[in-house]
Amino acid sequence: MREDVFLQRKEFFVLDALRCLRHDNSQNQCSKCINICDINALGIFKKKITLDTELCTNCGECIGSCPTESLSLESFDMSGFILDFVQKDKTSVVDGVDVPTFGMFDAHHIVSILLRKKSDIEFVTTSHTKETMSKYINDKIDTANEFLEQLNLPYRAKSVFKETTTDTKKRGLLKNIFTITKEIKTDENASKQLKKLEKYVPPKLTLLKNSLKLISEDLNVENIKTVKGLIANKEIDFQACTNCGECAHFCPTEALFRTSENDGIFFQSGKCIGCGVCKMVCEPNAITSPATVDLTRFMFDQADLLVHYDYHTCNECKTAFAYKGRGDICDRCLTYKDDFADMFVMAKDL
Ligand code: SF4
Ligand code: SF4
Repeated sequence: MREDVFLQRKEFFVLDALRCLRHDNSQNQCSKCINICDINALGIFKKKITLDTELCTNCGECIGSCPTESLSLESFDMSGFILDFVQKDKTSVVDGVDVPTFGMFDAHHIVSILLRKKSDIEFVTTSHTKETMSKYINDKIDTANEFLEQLNLPYRAKSVFKETTTDTKKRGLLKNIFTITKEIKTDENASKQLKKLEKYVPPKLTLLKNSLKLISEDLNVENIKTVKGLIANKEIDFQACTNCGECAHFCPTEALFRTSENDGIFFQSGKCIGCGVCKMVCEPNAITSPATVDLTRFMFDQADLLVHYDYHTCNECKTAFAYKGRGDICDRCLTYKDDFADMFVMAKDL
């Protein structure tokens, strides 16, 4: 494996290690791309994701699995492909012909196609499709359909198998991989803007929200169940939270962010990628994941104030602390008092 390089590439395939969840948090265990790559071209070196350029074949099969879109094939933009595809009179996507590989899809892409097409869509695997890729696309289709079902919409994705010739496959693959995707509509521009920000919202999430907005008048649901890998929600326990801000600091997308006065924490479900980093870094385990989420707040990027604290001065140490209605003494002094209560009693008795 190579040394720690941020932008690693093999011809068209690019790994932007700065975007990887492991970059800012060495404790992060995300291995989604590593698990998909069956030739072990991706691995961990010094706790960071690394690409072995000797082994990588440019296949792109790991791309859709990455929650942060750290992986890409240059000249093939998935958001661009989808916006182009939905304009066409087609209701099937063929692996290796319409897209270089089904491994580039995440559930967000499938839902976005269904919402924009307003029809059923077939994902066609062929004799060239690897078994791992068939399984992968089926899992993503299941996730997408679970979401559509919750929206009470009738469109579904399904996977079908069809024979195809090697020539067809190669022609399609080459045509697509060398196509410089057109500058398409606001979704693309929004994605580019977001890429410049330090905190990064993956374009597939923006595409999904924009697709939902397009059909928002047809939607008659408010709260829906969260769907793993697609839409998440967070809550913070007021009493347990110490307002340390670690969750907001480490959240890769700024879905959790602090108030301007640092006296509370907001959450925006429309930016959450469900990576679990916040829960991992929260020492008092104050963060939970409710089973439902408000769809309107998700698609219109509305933020909720999860916790807000007034600051009081501690009677013992005289420093400011987040007041929780338990008297004017901070958590640290309270713990200290509890831990050493016996000692104080003994000292008094002397
Ligand atoms: S899937 Fe993405 S976030 Fe996860 S290890 Fe690979 S590059 Fe990092
Ligand atoms: S809120 Fe938590 S789960 Fe959601 S993106 Fe931020 S760190 Fe990840």
